[in-house]
Amino acid sequence: MVSTTPDRMELPAYARRVLEVLEGAGYEAWVVGGWVRDALRGMPGHDVDVTTSALWQQTEKCLTDAGITVHETGTKHGTVTAVLDGKPVEITTYRVEGKYTDHRHPDQVRFVTDVRQDLARRDFTVNAMAWHPDRGLMDPFCGRRDLRLGVIRAVRDPRERFQEDALRILRAVRFAARMGFAVESHTQEALVQLAPTLDTVARERIGAEMDGIVRSGRVGWALMEEPEVMCRAIPQLGAMRGFQQHSPYHVYDVYEHTAHVCRAVQAFSGGLAAPELQWAALLHDVGKPDTFVMDEHGQGHFYGHPKVGAQIARSIMRGLSLPQDLVEPVTLLVRYHDHVVWPTHRSMRRTMMKFTRGCPGREPALVYELLDLKRSDAVSKAPAAFAFAHQLDEVARVLADEVARGPVFRTSQLAVSGADVMAACDLRPGPQVGQVLQGLLTAVVDGDVANDPQALLALARSLA
Ligand code: ATP
Ligand code: MG
Repeated sequence: MVSTTPDRMELPAYARRVLEVLEGAGYEAWVVGGWVRDALRGMPGHDVDVTTSALWQQTEKCLTDAGITVHETGTKHGTVTAVLDGKPVEITTYRVEGKYTDHRHPDQVRFVTDVRQDLARRDFTVNAMAWHPDRGLMDPFCGRRDLRLGVIRAVRDPRERFQEDALRILRAVRFAARMGFAVESHTQEALVQLAPTLDTVARERIGAEMDGIVRSGRVGWALMEEPEVMCRAIPQLGAMRGFQQHSPYHVYDVYEHTAHVCRAVQAFSGGLAAPELQWAALLHDVGKPDTFVMDEHGQGHFYGHPKVGAQIARSIMRGLSLPQDLVEPVTLLVRYHDHVVWPTHRSMRRTMMKFTRGCPGREPALVYELLDLKRSDAVSKAPAAFAFAHQLDEVARVLADEVARGPVFRTSQLAVSGADVMAACDLRPGPQVGQVLQGLLTAVVDGDVANDPQALLALARSLA
């Protein structure tokens, strides 16, 4: 089932060299997986993965003999990585996977001689194509058709494939989200049925896939179309599902509202929302189920939910082994998503101060993101709340003006240093110096004093 492929399939020279060396030594080799998928969609640039009839030792020998550097990156599974012009090429022996007893790791792999067998062990049809610059496309599972149709379809029996490796359940959602594809109906049925087996997958693997889903910009889609999978991967999302708000400001339950906010942050940022903003959209109301109370008029309230939500968001993300430089801004965005902002320079400086301790250096960018989160929140409630989104436009204009002025919201931006304060106030090093600096900062942020050395030192003396 070899067919011709479009002209635009242009393999980078360094990867072509790998194929030439392997085939020159009498082995067979193909490009597989993500590079083929993305090149067929007219999106080259993906890392090149090669699959070959050579055993890894043979691959290593013939590439090394040709002067190419080879690292033994996964020899247990038949993988080595060649590095050419500083670019890695992963090369794996044709293999099939043995029995799976833990829904995740094959008990053993078996090397085989036919590339078709290797393609058959792959997860989705669009990932199970091999391509060679001379021989064209090998596509036994009609991956190219599925690319055209825009569907994610498991290779062979979806239930079996998800039972072998439960991580594929989340991979399906990630690929569908990333490419804007639908999940084919049998594959979808199996996803729903086997979603509970996600519990057997290590949290950091779930974290990596969830991060991919969130960064795809289509986590709102994933929430609405794949709720069983999403709520199994992050059980706290399940607590939001169907949770009624009993509020005139809301027309959706907490979960559906969240899906709308996830879509809106993308729309407000031209499809380029920063990862921390997308995560914050997903988790901004995660504190609601735990803080719900109903008053005597039957109206719901969620007092303190941003603070509780920030703690939950932090623990979810840490549990998923996501990096601290993502967890911290998300926690702060969740924490302050209901913080009241005004179209005043003072309010903008005060808001930037909120991010200083956790995310120094990123304050202005995070306040822009906070405003986008607030806008998105507003347009995802009831029509009565929409007007607030317009008020935020004015706030954003003031923020832009404030940022252009070179605002002060951190003690290090004050026109005086700790040493200046100590000299002027006759203080010795100690916590009092920090307190005075903090007092000066508050005064500058509030507009009570200019950021000018003389004015600041005069105030410092009175504070000390
Ligand atoms: P990405 O752009 O996310 O890296 P990719 O297609 O390169 O996409 P990888 O996880 O790097 O995905 O894996 C490379 C290839 O290996 C896949 O295209 C697929 O053919 C196969 N593969 C990876 N993980 C699995 C799995 N869990 N089950 C079956 N096949 C898999
Ligand atoms: Mg890859």
